[in-house]
Amino acid sequence: MNRTVKQQILNKIKEYDRIMLFRHIRNDGDCVGSTKGLKRILELTFPKKEIYLIDSDSSEYLRFLGPEDDEVCDEIYKSALGIVIDTASEARISNKKYALCKELIKIDHHIPLENYGDIMWVEEERSSACEMIADFYITFKDELKIDSEAATYIYAGMVTDSGRFKYEGVNGDTMRCAAALLDVGVNTERLYANLYLEEFNYFKFKAHIYENMRISENGVAYIYVDKAMQEKFSLSLEDASACVGSLDGIRGALCWMAFIENGDEQGSIRVRLRSRFVKVNPIAEKYNGGGHACACGATVYSWDEAEALISDADALVKEYKETHEDWL
Ligand code: AMP
Repeated sequence: MNRTVKQQILNKIKEYDRIMLFRHIRNDGDCVGSTKGLKRILELTFPKKEIYLIDSDSSEYLRFLGPEDDEVCDEIYKSALGIVIDTASEARISNKKYALCKELIKIDHHIPLENYGDIMWVEEERSSACEMIADFYITFKDELKIDSEAATYIYAGMVTDSGRFKYEGVNGDTMRCAAALLDVGVNTERLYANLYLEEFNYFKFKAHIYENMRISENGVAYIYVDKAMQEKFSLSLEDASACVGSLDGIRGALCWMAFIENGDEQGSIRVRLRSRFVKVNPIAEKYNGGGHACACGATVYSWDEAEALISDADALVKEYKETHEDWL
């Protein structure tokens, strides 16, 4: 699929001596795994090229994947090909110096919010950007080199973005890509332990979530994690945000979301929205956000606005339930 655009990307990579990789703000397993994985593949395949991944934004839970490169001078950016992975819009690119690059390639699996870059390879039905990088490797298997380090980065992103191969976007291609990486060699026991073990105190926080979560009339489960709650359990913003996963799995609650008070001057509140069956991205887009149909993010600026968002989601779930019979 999309052989022509993939070939164009490979040709561009061959053309440049310097390549810089970019990803989105508030990094996650997919944007970290895809950039690190492609970097490693390119380093193995083209040892004479300079490949940079410069990003100061880091996540505690992904630290085991290792550090990024140190900052370089602007001249290096200006002579480089930039490849931005897993990022729907320019505003969400983490390292703003991407704009200095001579040419730019966009590789993404989000619902497109805008076009950017000289070459765009976007497949929104892919379960992760890492799946696209694995597919890129498989397409040019005879030319590209991979090792278990690269395979592990890419597999990590596939696992995290697909909810351990559970979400709707997972299909036969996903499994074929995962299989190719496992054939190269991934220590899955160690990887899953690094990704999913939690501190004892975090279990206490989860108990608190289960005590305090609420559910709207038509099945939207939600939790507010204000600053006081974050302080009580000594949570970083990242830890606090992870609680959205704890609301998954309530029968009849087709949508679930966590509101995390950022504690900034604007009073902003991060919203993480998740759903099954019903597509909730229009709600995220209405409230300064976007993402995927069933996993997206938004920002609100007051608890009143949060209530308005919940009420919109409730109406969407109500309509879905009234017009469909096969939901659970
Ligand atoms: P999150 O809840 O932050 O993990 O976001 C779920 C998905 O939606 C990820 O793929 C994010 O990249 C995307 N996303 C989150 N927030 C936004 C936003 N404000 N604008 C566009 N996409 C977003």
